[in-house]
Amino acid sequence: MTAYDPDNIFAKILRGEIPSTRVYEDDETLAFMDIMPRSDGHLLVIPKTPCRNLLDASPEQLASVMTTVQKLARAVVKAFDADGVTVQQFNEAAGGQEVFHLHFHILPRYEGVSVRPPGNMGDFDLIAEHAEKIKGALG
Ligand code: 5GP
Repeated sequence: MTAYDPDNIFAKILRGEIPSTRVYEDDETLAFMDIMPRSDGHLLVIPKTPCRNLLDASPEQLASVMTTVQKLARAVVKAFDADGVTVQQFNEAAGGQEVFHLHFHILPRYEGVSVRPPGNMGDFDLIAEHAEKIKGALG
């Protein structure tokens, strides 16, 4: 497998070199809003330490990330009064991965409502508003 690239976009977000809308962080993990949200409240959870994806992650990285994924999944359901939540994770280009730092997508879902198509930039003010709602639901 290709080596981890320390200049991938999420590594830059972790180092604060490019802006992001953060909603939660602890010593091991960071949660921030996706800039192309496929549903309102779409966010990403990443480990703070480097790994490309599920295939090279350590058990410790996975354990801490999944704990944060559950925390944020519960928070988005509460914040958006969602009927459910989709958690997505892609591995390598052939598996649909575009950014090569392990990340989990969290998307609030509603009965009978499809997610929006990929690749559409979100409205920054609206994303910031949604981030505040999620922060408010973190207990
Ligand atoms: P994946 O690698 O899981 O296929 O997709 C990467 C995800 O990262 C996409 O949902 C995309 O919208 C998101 N993304 C790409 N670049 C940025 C960025 O600079 N900031 C944020 N917050 N999200 C990004």
